[in-house]
Amino acid sequence: MTTESIHPETLVLHGGSFRKDNTTNAVAVPIYQTTSYEFDSTEHASNLFALKELGNIYTRIMNPTNAVLEERIAQLDGGVAALAVSSGSTANAYAIQNLAKAGDNIISSTDLYGGTWNLFNNTFKNIGIEVRFVDPSDPENFRKATDSKTRAYFGESLPNPKLNLFPIEEVSDIGRSFGIPLIIDNTAAPINCRPLDHGAAITTYSLTKWIGGHGTSIGGAIVDGANFDWTAIPERQPLLNEPDGSYHGVQWAQAIPEMFGAQIAFAIRARVVLLRDLGGAISPTNSFNFIQGLETLPLRLRQHNQNAIKVAEFLSNESSISKVIFPKFSKGEDKKRAEKYYKNGYGSMIGIEFDKGIEAGKAFINALELHYHVANIGDARSLAIHPASTTHSQLTLEEQLKTGVTPGYVRLCVGLEHTDDIINDLKKGLDAVDKFDRLKVAEA
Ligand code: PLP
Repeated sequence: MTTESIHPETLVLHGGSFRKDNTTNAVAVPIYQTTSYEFDSTEHASNLFALKELGNIYTRIMNPTNAVLEERIAQLDGGVAALAVSSGSTANAYAIQNLAKAGDNIISSTDLYGGTWNLFNNTFKNIGIEVRFVDPSDPENFRKATDSKTRAYFGESLPNPKLNLFPIEEVSDIGRSFGIPLIIDNTAAPINCRPLDHGAAITTYSLTKWIGGHGTSIGGAIVDGANFDWTAIPERQPLLNEPDGSYHGVQWAQAIPEMFGAQIAFAIRARVVLLRDLGGAISPTNSFNFIQGLETLPLRLRQHNQNAIKVAEFLSNESSISKVIFPKFSKGEDKKRAEKYYKNGYGSMIGIEFDKGIEAGKAFINALELHYHVANIGDARSLAIHPASTTHSQLTLEEQLKTGVTPGYVRLCVGLEHTDDIINDLKKGLDAVDKFDRLKVAEA
């Protein structure tokens, strides 16, 4: 199916080459729960291994159920190829390892999911990849931190807890002038934001969140926009331009456009080198769950977006809350970015701050009954967490403040319940904060 002018609601149901199962005529995508695929002949087998012919070899590298998911995710994002992997963390790790090796560096926004921060700050450091963290509010910080060993720029489109919007176009323009691609983790903004349209070369996803949508499966994806010329400054991207000894000396950036008619060297190398060697494959059953999640993603997201606006507006009128953090309420540059990049909505995460500190945040969370107290985002159910006592508790107070977590900060992820019920539950939390306040006054 051609994808020009097809809307997301249609793409998620019909995107890609799958129409029906050719053997049984089944309409739902079958779960191909198989490890291996029989070769027709030795010639067929050796052609597949040499990439002279495309086809299935082994599920660690490709699988027909995973392929349907990959095609639909790529189309939804305006990309050309995608790779489904075992988790969002795998997606981010591979996106970097596909370009950077020991001795290289990448430049990342400071505003990151904690797990990605750890990956960059500790695990990558231990394997010799340096990550230079910069404040993305000034895009020029990326230029300033760049040197001859810089292979990629990285940021999250809508990072929590700060929910400040990444300057996609500005940073990608700087990167392109050096031959450096921008990789955007778009986990929190599928459909709402399309980073590839604004100059990002690669997007990554934790499918675990809004795309799965029901909190049942862990998975990730990397999307290749095929919009980046890896050969423009070949010495900038050695892994894609120098002969790859692990693949008969192939030079990916030169060979792939000739073979596939599109510059998808990034996606192909990630599949046939990183999945082959590191093995972070997604299970076909999880892919099936994500295909189902995708089918209702546009519908669910519209409701998430609307519910979040209602809840944020309610919260902004509450006197016990000192600050409501939500992209719709942003000001200055952030407001301009919200209008430019978020045409469909602002997502469903809201940050609130109680200036009464850590105990107020805890009291609020403990009084909620409908909201689940979990370290997750993007579920159909409403979720809440108090980062200072959970996800960010290993950080020093200073580090917490740097990442945007104040002691009284609470993150809400607005679900699909009726907003009256969500708001009634939040009122229970606010009452508990009021009571806690009165208790403190009485003690004083
Ligand atoms: N990226 C972001 C923005 C996330 O929020 C998360 C998880 O919370 C991840 C990546 C990692 O995803 P996963 O849990 O699927 O490994």
